[in-house]
Formats: sequence, C-alpha cells, structure tokens
Amino acid sequence: MNENCLFCRIAAGEIPSSRVYEDETVLAFRDIAPQAPVHVLVIPKTHISGWSAAKDADDALLAHLVRVAAEVAEKEGIAASGYRVVSNCGPDAQQTVPHLHLHVLGGTEMKEQMA
Ligand code: 5GP
Ligand code: ZN
Repeated sequence: MNENCLFCRIAAGEIPSSRVYEDETVLAFRDIAPQAPVHVLVIPKTHISGWSAAKDADDALLAHLVRVAAEVAEKEGIAASGYRVVSNCGPDAQQTVPHLHLHVLGGTEMKEQMA
C-alpha cells in the first residue's frame, strides 16, 4: 500500500468508492467522472504504477485483472451491446493516477477513433 496513492487508498477503504466487484486481489469501482453511461475502473489491490512497472511475477494478477473487466461488463449488462477496455500509461496517454487501472466503458455507441 502506497499512502500517497489515490487508488491504494480507495482499495484500502480509506477513500470511499462505489464498488461493483471485489475479490482478494482486484477491485472494481465506478469512475467519479464517468465518460460513458457505464464507466468502471478495475485495479489490482497491490500498487503497480503502470504497465511499464509490471513484473513477470504479476502475470497471473494481470490476466485476472483483464478477466474481471469482462466480468464487470457482464454484471453491468453491457457485454452483449459491447464495451471498450482502455488503459492509459504515462504522460502522452494522459494517465492521471499512477496506479495501474483498466477503464471499462459502455452503454452507448462509441466513436471509431482510438485517440
Ligand atoms: P487515468 O486518467 O489515469 O487513465 O484515469 C484515472 C481515472 O480516475 C479518471 O477517469 C478519473 O475520473 C478517475 N478518478 C480520479 N479520482 C477519483 C476518485 O477519487 N474516485 C473515483 N471513483 N475515480 C476517480
Ligand atoms: Zn497505488
């Protein structure tokens, strides 16, 4: 747990969030500023700052993170209509919280462009 990290503090329950899924290693909660009707963030409970900081030992956790994103989409009722899983890494990608996270976005038809 990194005391200076917003998402570590959310994972620890120090900062409230609207949780939609949780298990021992992964937490999913609603984004505070949703960009789509469904906008959920999926995070590892342990602190990993971003994709570039992930290690071989994190492989199982990262695979689980992606599977949880799909499970969240199912729970939120957007699996059939479709959804986007986005993860920003670093300054050019506008990563604002340096704790690895997946955005699960859906509930509306999205534009084609990626950037
Ligand atoms: P990034 O810009 O790093 O890819 O995504 C960070 C996301 O975290 C943004 O979509 C932002 O709205 C969300 N966010 C920032 N602070 C909070 C917070 O305190 N609570 C929740 N639920 N989401 C937050
Ligand atoms: Zn963190």
